[in-house]
Amino acid sequence: TERSLVLIKPDGFQRGLTGEVLRRIEAKGYTLGALAIVTPTRELLAKHYAEHEGKPFYEPLLEFMSSGPVTAAVIEGQDCIKGFRSLAGATNPTDAAPGTIRGDFGRDWGTQVQQNIVHGSDSPDSASREIGIWFPEL
Ligand code: ATP
Repeated sequence: TERSLVLIKPDGFQRGLTGEVLRRIEAKGYTLGALAIVTPTRELLAKHYAEHEGKPFYEPLLEFMSSGPVTAAVIEGQDCIKGFRSLAGATNPTDAAPGTIRGDFGRDWGTQVQQNIVHGSDSPDSASREIGIWFPEL
């Protein structure tokens, strides 16, 4: 069965949305394969966000993502990569449809980086790469 890496970002963690996000994942029928609370280092984030290096939001993104605890989860289930991205909604929380995590709980805070509560892998290749970064023991 397919696996995806999900992150509850520092904004989601700080606002107490970890349980709500995990509840939606389980209510959808996906299972948790691994779960950890970590404050990520810049080194870890530089690997995770390598594709964005050089973009204007890269530095603010690393700053934001290393600002506090994050919940990292491996989720499992048929087509869970695409399925979780649909639970999450559009990247920009203002555009995200109601009913999605970002649509229900997110807004634009006027910062340089979209604080959009969650991350989910976008392809099987990204999922295995990202799971290797966050859960090297798996
Ligand atoms: P994620 O990877 O977090 O699931 P995504 O795939 O929709 O979301 P990416 O394009 O991979 O988004 O960007 C990674 C993160 O960088 C986004 O989730 C957001 O926090 C931030 N980001 C992306 N694009 C912008 C932008 N144009 N302005 C500000 N922040 C951005």
